[in-house]
Amino acid sequence: MKPHPNEPTFTDPVCGMKVSRRTAADQLEFDGKVYYFCAEVCRKAFEAEPEKFKHRHRQHGSRKS
Ligand SMILES: [Zn+2]
Repeated sequence: MKPHPNEPTFTDPVCGMKVSRRTAADQLEFDGKVYYFCAEVCRKAFEAEPEKFKHRHRQHGSRKS
């Protein structure tokens, strides 16, 4: 497998870390959108209070698509 330098990155909505599909430890589909997480603990935190983290993610506005 070739590494993709321009691989799209996603921001872990819980801790703010950048992850890609390849580096994400976990993912979760919520509200029709897929979120990627650096670790299982982050996914669990998101699952516990999705609204809280969703809003924080929105504020960032770093995603272009
Ligand atoms: Zn995280």
